[in-house]
Amino acid sequence: MKRILIIGAGGQLGSELTLALREKFGADQVLATDIRPLSGVLLAGPTTILDAMDANALNSLIESYDIGQVYHLAAVLSAKGESSPKFAWDLNMNSLLNVLEAGKTYGLKIYWPSSIAVFGPDTPKEQTPQHTVMNPTTVYGISKQAGEQWCAYYHEKYRVDVRSLRYPGLIGYKSKPGGGTTDYAVDIFWKALQGETFQCFLSSGTRLPMMYMNDAVKGTIDLMDAPESDVKIRTSYNMGSMSFSPEELYEAIVAQVPEFKIAYEPDFRQAIADSWPDSIDDSEARKDWGWAPQFDLSRMTQDILEHLKVEVA
Ligand code: NAD
Repeated sequence: MKRILIIGAGGQLGSELTLALREKFGADQVLATDIRPLSGVLLAGPTTILDAMDANALNSLIESYDIGQVYHLAAVLSAKGESSPKFAWDLNMNSLLNVLEAGKTYGLKIYWPSSIAVFGPDTPKEQTPQHTVMNPTTVYGISKQAGEQWCAYYHEKYRVDVRSLRYPGLIGYKSKPGGGTTDYAVDIFWKALQGETFQCFLSSGTRLPMMYMNDAVKGTIDLMDAPESDVKIRTSYNMGSMSFSPEELYEAIVAQVPEFKIAYEPDFRQAIADSWPDSIDDSEARKDWGWAPQFDLSRMTQDILEHLKVEVA
């Protein structure tokens, strides 16, 4: 089997996806790369530094490690992107084009994540359809929408087998989030167990689509395992799981950590959250390749608190 390359392996998603792929295919089969040095459990398999903007370095790695699949996860996320829009556009677009070009040259299978940030204020908010009005308002959302079109273009013109999911907010406890608008839903668990009041940067009733990391990792690998003919959407699949507001998440946590307190201090991220859907219609993903999430709010909360208690103790 040819090897798998992960770009952005040190991030919130990459660190968990790398471990899951190494578990499935063997540690030596998965080359974990990032622009910054990797550490901890990620060192149990091959790692190296790679700047996704450097097409020559990318191509040499693909040749020297006999790479057949690429998971391209490096990006500037929604909230961070607003402080340096030009840089976010450059990184998010040019790194994707480098990977798609490599896909064409080397016949690679590619995974690249999109986001619910492709949707905007005039998108239907409830059960947002797969095909609908988009008009994103952040540079991140604009880059994801354009990226989706580039993926469909390379598939259509050059038969590159590129696959993609529109993730909602991802919640995991193993790594810190990287500057998105849904990061509060990760940070809140740490504060609950450290006995601190949580200052939430979104208002109490802001409902957003969310997903537990275990489901995101499983869905990603399932999509990549699906037969090529089952993958009918080559822009990016809607992917849903649960929706909740900060208040609903707080209620789920306080049921298990009764002394926990929250305060609401919305900042610039509120406007981004307000432009996104409340819930997602993911029926195409369910029909085409069998997407089925396992975790709801209460099961996720229980699982995170159980695992984090050990780390915080
Ligand atoms: P993250 O910010 O935690 O991780 C991104 C990683 O990319 C970091 O380790 C960073 O060092 C690395 N990186 C940055 N610039 C690089 C470069 N030039 N070359 C190589 N590596 C570079 O992000 P994440 O949360 O793990 O997100 C991964 C992907 O999933 C992104 O494409 C993101 O848009 C998408 N996504 C994430 C979420 C979420 O809630 N986390 C939601 C929707 C979509």
